Amino acid sequence: MKNIFVILIFSLTLSQCIGIKAKKTSTTVNQSSKNIEVVADIKNPNLIIGIVVDQMRYDYLIKFQKHYGNGGFKRLMKGGYNLDNVHYNYIPTYTAVGHASIYTGTTPVNHGIISNNWYDKYEKKSIYCVDDDRYKTIGALQGGSKSPYRMLTTTITDQLKLSQNLNGKTIGISIKDRSAILPAGHTANSAYWFEGGDIGKFISSSFYMNELPKWVQDFNNQGKANIYLNMTWNTYYPIESYIETLPDNNNYEGLFNGKNTPTFPYNLAELRKVNNNFDLLKAVAFGNSFTTDFAEATIIGENLGKSEFTDFLAVSYSSPDYVGHQFGIDAKEIQDTYIRLDKDLERFLIFLDKQIGENNYLIFLTADHAAVQVPAYSNSLKIPSGYFNNLGFKKFVNQITLDYFKSDQLVENISNYQVFLNKSKIKELNLLTRRHYIYNYQAAY
Ligand SMILES: [Zn+2]
Repeated sequence: MKNIFVILIFSLTLSQCIGIKAKKTSTTVNQSSKNIEVVADIKNPNLIIGIVVDQMRYDYLIKFQKHYGNGGFKRLMKGGYNLDNVHYNYIPTYTAVGHASIYTGTTPVNHGIISNNWYDKYEKKSIYCVDDDRYKTIGALQGGSKSPYRMLTTTITDQLKLSQNLNGKTIGISIKDRSAILPAGHTANSAYWFEGGDIGKFISSSFYMNELPKWVQDFNNQGKANIYLNMTWNTYYPIESYIETLPDNNNYEGLFNGKNTPTFPYNLAELRKVNNNFDLLKAVAFGNSFTTDFAEATIIGENLGKSEFTDFLAVSYSSPDYVGHQFGIDAKEIQDTYIRLDKDLERFLIFLDKQIGENNYLIFLTADHAAVQVPAYSNSLKIPSGYFNNLGFKKFVNQITLDYFKSDQLVENISNYQVFLNKSKIKELNLLTRRHYIYNYQAAY
């Protein structure tokens, strides 16, 4: 399994991150030959910031390091803990699964978020991880009938709420709905995500509220999304200095509508006309700057980090994932996205120092999953590579069941590398052995 990483910074220890307290003074007593610390005069962080960078590979920290400044990724790595021997122990490594696993601290078999979309064997249909039609959109006409109800366990944000007798605020924000909703947990004060298309606003669900707070409305009315989409995306530093990635024009990158080559510069004002308007902002580096703007607005608007309780802001940067899917991991566009994200992080940390105080907040940064080389690029290097053929696999499985059991209807659904059996058909054809009956009987209890 691929490596993931977690960075934590500032004066609080790892044990404090996973649960508890900053220590000012302590004494040690010896009991049953174990040292047990008696903690006194404890101080909690005023604000916890959880950052997930969507599709960030661990090696981006190293590969692009000479282009990073001292105030972003490097500040986090030098000032805190860098946990680089961390592994995924589940598949598939998709966005919803990653965010749920990070924040619940457990795996899909327990938290229930087994993919972004999956086949629900009880409802007999494909569902989306955060869809919930019991709720309506807040702040627009569509895109907000959502909740975290399909996540079956608590998150660290829920546990923080419970530990403080429901005091303190917990909020999730992201361009992607699932990346805001799942980290914020079941007891969240709110979660906000960006609705693209012709809407171009941060919205929410009636699961959390009946109307957008004034500060969110104000943010939407400022028109920042339009400001970014009136800019031209060029490389932050001269493109000749980006020697860690493939030539800008290569055969392994996707094209925006309206472009003949996958190359800088990107005139966003023109491209938005043929790339579903505000959706374009999600798929360029400025989506991270826009998310940072909203994170700062959230902290000010909700007065986070200013009460006697600990608040938690979960921020997920979605744009690196869109850029990665469009251009691949070896693209100049990905390199520039991370160089610019480094600048956004520096700005955000300086903001936090000023707004919350340098030693008053705890921050971690990690990724929900990574990505591999574009298969066609690997193949060009004679490295065996390709895509899993879902349809071909289903035909293959159906042919096997036809050969052995005289039916090609024994498999109900194949998705996310999971096979769902058609149990009623299996029963109807009397294919269950006595051993299976016993197993099912025991499993029921
Ligand atoms: Zn993701």
